[in-house]
Amino acid sequence: MRDGSDRKLSIIVPAMNEELTLDRAAKILSGIIEQLVSNKKISLDSQILFIDDGSTDKTWETIMELSSKRKHVTGIKFSRNFGHQAALIAGFEASKDADLLVSIDADLQDDPNSIIDMIEKVDSEAVEVVYGVRNDRTTDSFFKRQTASIFYKIMNELGAKTVKNSADFRLMTKKAMNEFLKFPERDMFIRGLVPLVGFKSAQVFYKRSPREAGSTKYPLKKMINFAIDGVTSFSIKPIRFLRNMGIAIIFISMIFFAYSFVEHFLGHTTAGWSSLIISIWGLGGLQLFSIGVLGEYIGQIFTEVKKRPRYIIEQNLLDQR
Ligand code: UDP
Ligand code: MG
Repeated sequence: MRDGSDRKLSIIVPAMNEELTLDRAAKILSGIIEQLVSNKKISLDSQILFIDDGSTDKTWETIMELSSKRKHVTGIKFSRNFGHQAALIAGFEASKDADLLVSIDADLQDDPNSIIDMIEKVDSEAVEVVYGVRNDRTTDSFFKRQTASIFYKIMNELGAKTVKNSADFRLMTKKAMNEFLKFPERDMFIRGLVPLVGFKSAQVFYKRSPREAGSTKYPLKKMINFAIDGVTSFSIKPIRFLRNMGIAIIFISMIFFAYSFVEHFLGHTTAGWSSLIISIWGLGGLQLFSIGVLGEYIGQIFTEVKKRPRYIIEQNLLDQR
């Protein structure tokens, strides 16, 4: 067995309004760290790093209490809500001294025992990234599964090769993380970027359980925005699609022009109401859609050029150790 007792593990847990789930998360994750420490897989200074992403409930108080009670628990508090992805990045950046970095949701819907398997994979297969893959999502709603499946199909078509049925539960080694953190974009679609880092990777499979407490922090609106950001930050294919549609429509209208000229000279000029209405609505819709797509890209450019910080930290328990 490999002696890994010099490796620091950092488990990064974003938390927005998770006062109901943190106790359990801290307990279970501490158990896993202790088990790994006693098996000489990781070092004693391994940590569970909660990122309070602008919670309005007692999440931060809970994190502070847990950190005084439990050896491995520590936390960072954002000045406001910056989003799940920003919380993960903050956790990564605050774990520069960690050799192994795992990200997991506070509700532990993703099986924390898989962390042990992930570290096993790093040791046995010398991989730099291990993806947690849900091989059973029956506990997610039908709607969530269907929309997610369509979304990842589109993303794959567009060239962002996400690992199927994997989300933000994964392990990265320090080597992979160092490279990942060089990606400069503000708006990070992490699950699409990690595969771009390359290196050898592996997968561990688990069954996704239902949320134990609290409610989802990803309502439909947030899910749609997340999906659109994912698409527009990864691919310019939608813009190309519009261009091709435009060309096709110009072509069709030329045929239409020719047709109406002929009709005119044959004296059938009263007809045409339906074709008129169809073209007004059709073209109007297409134009609005096109402007919308362009707007999304301009929005992306807008966020990127501003180079605003990805997050702002209000309090950092790591500094107070
Ligand atoms: N989360 C966050 N900021 C947000 C939304 C969510 O930090 O703006 C966290 C949340 O606390 C949880 C994780 O991201 O730890 C995933 O959210 P959730 O479990 O609600 O998503 P779902 O499993 O329903 O997709
Ligand atoms: Mg969840």
